[in-house]
Amino acid sequence: MASKEGKEAIHLLMVTLTAQGHLNPMLRLGKRLLDLGLHVTLATTEIGGLRMLKAAAITNTTAAAISGIRLLFFPDGFSLDYNRGANLDHYMESLSKTGPGSLSNLIKQHYQTTKLACIITNPFVSWAADAASENGVPCAMLWIQPCSLYAIYYRFYNKLNQFDTCTIELPGLPLLHADDLPSFLLPSNSFGGVSRMLSDMFRSMKKHKWVLANSFFELEKKAIESMSELCPILPVGPLVPPSLLGQHQALDVGIEIQKPDETSLEWLNKQSPASVIYVSFGSMAVLSAKVTEAIATALKNTNHPFLWVVKRPEVPSADGAGELPLWFEEETKTQGRVVPWSPQTKVLSHPSIACFITHCGWNSVLETLAAGVPVIAYPQWSDQPTNAKLVVDVFKVGLRIKPGPDGVVSNAGIEECINQVLSGPDFEELKKNAAVLKQAAREAVTTAGSSDRNILLFVNEIASSCSSLVGGGSGSGSGDGGSGGPLKMNIIL
Ligand code: UDP
Repeated sequence: MASKEGKEAIHLLMVTLTAQGHLNPMLRLGKRLLDLGLHVTLATTEIGGLRMLKAAAITNTTAAAISGIRLLFFPDGFSLDYNRGANLDHYMESLSKTGPGSLSNLIKQHYQTTKLACIITNPFVSWAADAASENGVPCAMLWIQPCSLYAIYYRFYNKLNQFDTCTIELPGLPLLHADDLPSFLLPSNSFGGVSRMLSDMFRSMKKHKWVLANSFFELEKKAIESMSELCPILPVGPLVPPSLLGQHQALDVGIEIQKPDETSLEWLNKQSPASVIYVSFGSMAVLSAKVTEAIATALKNTNHPFLWVVKRPEVPSADGAGELPLWFEEETKTQGRVVPWSPQTKVLSHPSIACFITHCGWNSVLETLAAGVPVIAYPQWSDQPTNAKLVVDVFKVGLRIKPGPDGVVSNAGIEECINQVLSGPDFEELKKNAAVLKQAAREAVTTAGSSDRNILLFVNEIASSCSSLVGGGSGSGSGDGGSGGPLKMNIIL
């Protein structure tokens, strides 16, 4: 299909699940590619598609699009009312079996007469590389965690380094202890299916012609360079709302699956500059009653205003997970606010925010870096312990709450961290480092910045390989850190 300028149009197909932390980085990369003149389609499961259409208030379901990115949906093999998050392992393993066929059908149906130049997957739908290969389409991956995690997993699954010692020394990374490693690599990991999926993927990375990353070179220089001879990774981020990067005119294509409490912003307007503690543990983690009580007590005792996103379990839990202590709302009603979901990126860029108590999901880390807000890290699972290590020892923009001798965090430990970050001896240093990285994030995405150059490199390589592509359908194929109880999660995929 020729474009208006007479040039051959370049069509890309991005594949992702609609978990909040997976979807927006992909949409933002898609928007960047769209702005460069490529045709971009995002494919997700039918159930995820319904959620997206609802969140973005899209009613035209036959030609659905978000800011020019066309949306297509494929079946995942489960009925719409099936609870996919109840057994994550089972769902991911089933999807890895049915997904390639469903995606292949979608490709054959929609790319009969149009050449598909590239399929972009992410690590949680890495099976899409098989559909790409079956259809003779080159495949790229958008790695949605830090490049450091990519390096760790690659080395672990390909048995390139020793991981069975107390301290792990890897090129380009700080010395790691067991509690700094991603939970999927620990003996206590209870998500064997996810580990198997990562293992399969990292042992066959050759299926991906390009690995892009939601990070930026200046942030993870050593880890990125350490992979350059092994299996290169091209950072193209941070893929956060443009307004967080000072690009106030640019449209954000990200969508929020849950409805944010916008009145939080009005409340923030009434607070003093750099006074509010923002607390959120992302879209999945539901904290135990013990940890919730420790945070509640610490917030009350510090006497700072706070905005706390409290995630309650889908089904109320007998052990009180995710429930605030009974005394809390009454005793802190003039001090802070509790909401089920906040407009986080707007919150972080609000001048009244002083620090962010976070689980260190990678999107939250990038958002707080882009906003220049210091961090108090309380990681839960997956990449979060390693992200916390990076926040503290590499980016040097925060401190980590450590569990006490009983393995559970205490209110005293949390208060100590808050005091240190807001007024301890390292206060100036943390603020300064956060400001430096905020600026570096902005520079990475401006014209000729490191991420901008990497995107252009990727697009140029796709464009130059386009002439040799065949059309779609041709078939020319080639551990839980101190959580005070079992970790509960609301996983929405
Ligand atoms: N988020 C939000 N409001 C909230 C909590 C989270 O908008 O109240 C967004 C947050 O800005 C981030 C995403 O949800 O973009 C969470 O992704 P992250 O990788 O930090 O954690 P996950 O949810 O995957 O554990």
